[in-house]
Amino acid sequence: MADDIPHGAAGRFSAWQATYITVLGRTEISYSLEGLNVAVAMEKELLCKDFLARPKQLLIDGKWVNAESGKTFEVYNPATEEVIAKVQEGGKADVDKAVRAARKAFETGPWRTMSTAQRQRLLMKLADAIEAHADELAQIETLDNGKPINESRYVDVVQTVETFRYYAGWATKLEGETINANSNFFTYTLREPVGVVGQIIPWNFPMLMAAWKLGPALACGNTVVLKPAEQTPLSALRIGELALEVGFPAGVINIITGFGPDSAGSAISEHMDIDKVAFTGEENTGRIIVKASAGNLKRVSLELGGKAPNIVFADADIDAAVKGAITGIFFNQGQVCCAGSRLFLESKIHDEFMTKLTERVKQIKQGHGLDDKTVIGPQVSKEQQERILNYIDIAQKEGAKLACGGGTPKDLQKGYFVEPTIFTGCTNDMRIAKEEVFGPVLAVIPFKTTEEVAEAANKTTFGLSGAVWTKDVKKAHKLASQIKAGTIWVNCYNAFDPAVPFGGYKMSGYGRELGKHSIELYTNIKSVWVNLAE
Ligand code: ADP
Repeated sequence: MADDIPHGAAGRFSAWQATYITVLGRTEISYSLEGLNVAVAMEKELLCKDFLARPKQLLIDGKWVNAESGKTFEVYNPATEEVIAKVQEGGKADVDKAVRAARKAFETGPWRTMSTAQRQRLLMKLADAIEAHADELAQIETLDNGKPINESRYVDVVQTVETFRYYAGWATKLEGETINANSNFFTYTLREPVGVVGQIIPWNFPMLMAAWKLGPALACGNTVVLKPAEQTPLSALRIGELALEVGFPAGVINIITGFGPDSAGSAISEHMDIDKVAFTGEENTGRIIVKASAGNLKRVSLELGGKAPNIVFADADIDAAVKGAITGIFFNQGQVCCAGSRLFLESKIHDEFMTKLTERVKQIKQGHGLDDKTVIGPQVSKEQQERILNYIDIAQKEGAKLACGGGTPKDLQKGYFVEPTIFTGCTNDMRIAKEEVFGPVLAVIPFKTTEEVAEAANKTTFGLSGAVWTKDVKKAHKLASQIKAGTIWVNCYNAFDPAVPFGGYKMSGYGRELGKHSIELYTNIKSVWVNLAE
């Protein structure tokens, strides 16, 4: 059913609707999502076939090169389990080379002396180039990650473009200040780039995470060594090609494909000449990266996991909340750090809500991401599929009651699929309610009072996001302040905008990405004292 799409856009309503229409200039409307009408007219042709056929290399110092080790690894389409590309297995030697190039570009290249207006123009040009290749990039993302093509095209690509445009704007707005501290001195601050930045990103939103990292870092004048996730390196490589085409100077953007531990990832986090590392991924990897960063005490920002409470009160618009629950957990196959994986339902609406929810979920079409009717695609890898199925097993052993799903779809023989799965009768102590499953598995927990649910919502080591569904304004604001998390959605879920900060409390990490807060991550403040005394 069209409006059952567990889309990340629910709640983005008119703002994004306008964006889609101007960005795309298309008139065809094939489905409507909560008032968001988007054109879905994917060309049948595989626009990315030339890119897939080209050899994949590392981007170092403005050139495409092989890994020093000569090693490559295979990249799979998670819907078919077929190899779609071979990429270079970058390691320490390649990271060293990339850091040298980034350092040179930072200290002595044209990037350093370029006017901020030129820097802004380059970022705008990159956004334009991505937009011009939107369908191709969407296909690359779907083939690499598995996500439905409509999401790749109308969420990932669109937000990638918007993120680069937003930060292009910042390039010309960076300012220091003058401070009237003492009349014997002229005192001012300079806002300067941090230097060489290492960026390690995950596989759930490969292109968008690259944009969240590259956009602000480049706008502030840093140079970058980016490592995409080993499962999904392709869209970053294509963006690297486009960045060279639009004229980014050599060494400003370096892209190293490779693995994490004892490989390119750890080489970045340990590197003594990287000034800052930005990481999005698992909590445990975050800890390793913090430890590795201690060598040169480089700055670290972390966006880690979540176990978000999605709280529905009896006075909510139930139909909207049902859609919000679907969006909350099933968007992107549940592979979202801010997924609403704990659904708290006020007891008096529990049964009615569950009937409506399971009826809709059972109709969701699962399949190959390139099929534009697909609403839920495969998980990214066999490893993730197995991990999620294991959690489903654990939930049943711990006494949770299966309301729908619970296995792999019978009609899909190939691919790493997991059915959208809902458990009722859960408690906060069960492992599926405590640990990040990172898949399409929802734990439903009943509650009776506001105090009780506020306490239960916070009974988690994570704090990335949460949501409240109610018509009572007081209750909404009260809970928004009580929930210890970096983002709270009221009567919506997964609303995003490049201007609005995102990040975690507690073990969900530190530092805020997006908005002006990302500028803080990528700049240093220098105070200058000029002696005016006679
Ligand atoms: P997942 O287990 O879901 O793949 P990770 O946190 O392991 O999540 O991966 C996110 C990113 O971190 C990937 O780019 C991965 O290669 C990288 N990574 C994994 N382990 C390390 C590590 N020890 N040091 C640096 N980067 C790592």
